[in-house]
Amino acid sequence: MRKVKNLIVGCGLSGIVLAERLASQRGEEVLIIDRRNHIGGNIYDYKDKATGITVHQYGPHAFHTNNKKVWDYLNQFTRFYPMNLKVSAYIDGQTVPVPFNFNSIEKLFPHFIAEKLEKKLVERFGYDVKVPILTLKKENDEDLKFLADFVYRNVFEGYTIKQWNLEPDNIDAEVMARVPVFIGRDDRYFQDKYQGIPWNGYTAMVKKMLSNNLIKVELETDFKDIKNEIEAERIFYSGAIDEFFEYSEGTLPYRSLRFDILIKNVEKEQPTTTINYPNNYDWTRVCEHKHFLNEKSQQTVLSYEYPEAFVEGKNERYYPINNSETQQLYNQYLNKAKELKNVYFIGRLGDYKYYNMDQTIARALELFEGVK
Ligand code: FAD
Ligand code: UDP
Repeated sequence: MRKVKNLIVGCGLSGIVLAERLASQRGEEVLIIDRRNHIGGNIYDYKDKATGITVHQYGPHAFHTNNKKVWDYLNQFTRFYPMNLKVSAYIDGQTVPVPFNFNSIEKLFPHFIAEKLEKKLVERFGYDVKVPILTLKKENDEDLKFLADFVYRNVFEGYTIKQWNLEPDNIDAEVMARVPVFIGRDDRYFQDKYQGIPWNGYTAMVKKMLSNNLIKVELETDFKDIKNEIEAERIFYSGAIDEFFEYSEGTLPYRSLRFDILIKNVEKEQPTTTINYPNNYDWTRVCEHKHFLNEKSQQTVLSYEYPEAFVEGKNERYYPINNSETQQLYNQYLNKAKELKNVYFIGRLGDYKYYNMDQTIARALELFEGVK
């Protein structure tokens, strides 16, 4: 029987933060495993050989946070290239800013209508503020109702059905609230104080985090295959919690994606990093990767994102599907987890939560501080 002090399952951001802390702050040995053939989990990126462009293999990842502790933590391992993500949506044959804002209104409506809508929005909500679409939809004023219906139909409804294979009414209201309507002209996808992309990419950043002699990384290693051969004082598990318990309570649903990555012989294809396609085509969004680090090349790399059902063995789990039913099932697993003395669940899959990167890191740091 192989003995280790700390076994971390999953070499994604959650596992890496814990490994880094345990090794650097407590001087403890860590074995971190992943069944994929690379480190970084879903934040993994690589330099495309043909173009030299850094590609986010698992879709566009823009770091953003208001949490100074998380920002300072990451800045020990990388400098950040200052970058504010910009996204557009393809609506009625035009690309308009998303979150939907005054610039979007002015591109899509005649001047006299745009002016009236903007005046009403400011009177009702103020300026430079975010309003979730579902809040806007509850307005009684006829003009605001008209606008809310337009935005709902053209920005949210089709995209949400493609992304989740569910009607918007059947998903957690917080999911759509991630992308509000913006009353003002701020064209950034996020308004957080700290935003950027690791200067040499995410993979270089996490490589640095793992570069401690106390940390051993083993790839292409599934927990299932080694669990009976290894004895660990503590296990930190960032895989899916239902899989850990061999689905004893039932299967937690997840949404997956397929990425079609292609190189095009043009210098620049899109005005913004990402274009969302709520109403047209089968993909939800197209990302042009050279925008992240403002990389120069005569060619460009694009990824087309197609949502699909998660099927074990075929694709990856990317998004937990939060609603009251799945929360109840997750709570059953959580109760089982509480009975285990030395196993800690973390990350998007272990906690079954729609974490952004900064939330993933904050959660791992908090857990580290609480571990005896
Ligand atoms: P993961 O990265 O999923 O890592 C878990 C790892 O565990 C995986 O590598 C998996 O292979 C491994 N594993 C699972 N089970 C086993 C097992 N049994 N044995 C061995 N290994 C196992 N966040 C932002 O802040 N900004 C963004 O712009 C952004 N964009 C995103 C876009 C997409 C398409 C997606 C899917 C996510 C995005 N995120 C973004 C969220 C971000 O990816 C996550 O917050 C973060 O990667 C979560 O890290 P994690 O370690 O919890 O999970
Ligand atoms: N959304 C939408 N239209 C858009 C962008 C987002 O309907 O143009 C909704 C959709 O339900 C999506 C959710 O808002 O799943 C969250 O979007 P976000 O861009 O945060 O998704 P992620 O980057 O996490 O895939």
